[in-house]
Amino acid sequence: MRSVLLTVEGMSAGYSGVDVVRELDLTIDKGEVVALLGPNGAGKTTTLLALAGVLTPTSGKVRYRDAPLRGALHRRARRGISYISEQGSVFSRLTTLANLRLGPGPVEDALALFPELEPLLGRRGGLLSGGEQRMLALARSLAGKPDLLLVDELSLGLAPLIVTRLLERLRAAADAGTAVLIVEQHASQVLAVSDRGYVLRRGRLSTSGTGAELLASPDVLRSAYLGTG
Ligand code: ATP
Repeated sequence: MRSVLLTVEGMSAGYSGVDVVRELDLTIDKGEVVALLGPNGAGKTTTLLALAGVLTPTSGKVRYRDAPLRGALHRRARRGISYISEQGSVFSRLTTLANLRLGPGPVEDALALFPELEPLLGRRGGLLSGGEQRMLALARSLAGKPDLLLVDELSLGLAPLIVTRLLERLRAAADAGTAVLIVEQHASQVLAVSDRGYVLRRGRLSTSGTGAELLASPDVLRSAYLGTG
């Protein structure tokens, strides 16, 4: 049975009084992977920042587990919402182990999710490759078994094989109950593991559908890649 976790109704958000996301409606169910797609500058990151509590929406309603979602990032973390920024959210001067210890869950659970991190435990975060940093951020976050994980541009600068591995873990986390909202400019790999997706264009919702529907739509893919169509 469908179990709605997050409902966004008519949300607008932006910077210095100028809305760059306008009247957005979306829902996320428990255990779903939802992709938020669109070209550069469409408002994907802004949407995620508003849901994470980094930005305050200028209007609209956001409900999480049947109550209004308010408060800053750390308060939302206590309500089971985890946010991974485009920069990866890894502390570059701390070792992999220290980064994992700062997380909300046991280090062993993080390592069980990504055994690749084990030989890197003594290495500083800043010396890890891009893919390793993303693994570290995901491992740390998922070990806390969040109810909702917000991930920005997971694939940025990574080889497709690593992206596949990360997406596989996200899909498994969703199947175990974590809802995932994933912002992505390059749609096809993410849609392959997504239940549903939304496409933003110039701050507004342009299309939505199941992962399979969006994957099969050349127009949607073209607009997500190139900002045209
Ligand atoms: P990208 O893939 O480039 O991150 P995006 O879809 O995530 O694209 P946003 O980062 O949400 O888009 O940006 C939406 C609009 O808001 C863009 O026009 C951008 O220039 C503007 N914007 C983003 N951050 C700020 C900021 N800190 N101050 C002012 N305007 C901003």
